Amino acid sequence: MHNKLGAHTTKKVASPTRESSYDESIQFYQFTDASPDPILITNTKGNIWYVNPAWEKLTGYTSKEVIDKNPRFLHSLKTPSRIYKDLWKLLSEGKNFTTDEICDRKKDGTEYQIHSTFFPIRKDNNNIFYVQIQHDITKKNELERQRDTFIGIASHELKTPISTLSAYMQILEKRLQDDKQNKYFITHIKSQINRLTGLIDDLLHVSRIDSGKLELNLKKLDLESLIKKVVVDSQLTTESHTISYKSDAHVTIIGDELRIEQVIVNLLNNAVKYSQNAHEVIIHLCTDTDKAHAVVSVKDFGMGIVKKDQPNIFQRFYRTKDKEEGRISGFGLGLYISSQIIKKHRGKIWVESTRGKGSTFFFSLPLLVKKNE
Ligand code: ADP
Repeated sequence: MHNKLGAHTTKKVASPTRESSYDESIQFYQFTDASPDPILITNTKGNIWYVNPAWEKLTGYTSKEVIDKNPRFLHSLKTPSRIYKDLWKLLSEGKNFTTDEICDRKKDGTEYQIHSTFFPIRKDNNNIFYVQIQHDITKKNELERQRDTFIGIASHELKTPISTLSAYMQILEKRLQDDKQNKYFITHIKSQINRLTGLIDDLLHVSRIDSGKLELNLKKLDLESLIKKVVVDSQLTTESHTISYKSDAHVTIIGDELRIEQVIVNLLNNAVKYSQNAHEVIIHLCTDTDKAHAVVSVKDFGMGIVKKDQPNIFQRFYRTKDKEEGRISGFGLGLYISSQIIKKHRGKIWVESTRGKGSTFFFSLPLLVKKNE
């Protein structure tokens, strides 16, 4: 028997919900004491009634030091107060609640980040106490921060030699333009440099997005003209597919031309890349039924995406585990960047797809002026 049981026996060994047997109490402590995740339980007054050894280890407090105290003293000011407001509302309705990231303070004053799930338990007279199971994400956050710093520095450092290579390539191209074979080599080197530039740009964008530094250069934008221009450019890069454009709308939005272009290029590139056995890609522009949004869709007839992957493909570095796709290169960043750009424009991006039949990616953007019928 864990000695924590002894520590609580005099006052609080029984479950607070009902009279429990001594055996049940022992089982309760065997379970909570062994849990690798920190657990904190309050009594109906909202004061701490129990903390497990994992919680003591994480915070540096002993249970004796915190029992009967209000857990508020643990909260850091970094946690938005609305989280606790939402929490109390849901707990009082008897609902579980899993928080976004919250920040608490250890005994030595340092802060740690957790996701917490709160389970409300109603006692007689409708008094509520709750069980809080915490998941420490401090290390994960720190690793992510290190990774983001690395991506930022690496992409920045890679950009300089690639720009230099590109510049010398242009000079060589001019000098060797009369020789057919050299021209062939140069075209291939250029296409690989472009590919590399694209990958580095993706890394740079991710790093800017994640540090909140992606700035938009907003101005009035004729979406139809932009799409037509991108279709012409993209068609030049593929011989295997015909990209056709259809439109029911002539619309103006407020947006960053380069960034919206980047989204359309990315969707078109993906449509070609993931439909190697098909030959057609259709891009369509219309307005939403509310006439307040422009909707752009990019349809392909390729491999499609299984249902379970569809919500995940807009996440950073996410690539489906498909065998067929294993051979297609990529970082899993294009859709993440596109979704962040569209979000910054107060728009939405989504996908409809059937495995083996193809995918249609949509994004919508607020119109400058709502269309009247
Ligand atoms: P990348 O193409 O570099 O892997 P993206 O972020 O553009 O990165 O796409 C993420 C994942 O979504 C891809 O790895 C692929 O699994 C899936 N995907 C994206 N577009 C399509 C498409 N048109 N058809 C099928 N799968 C797609």
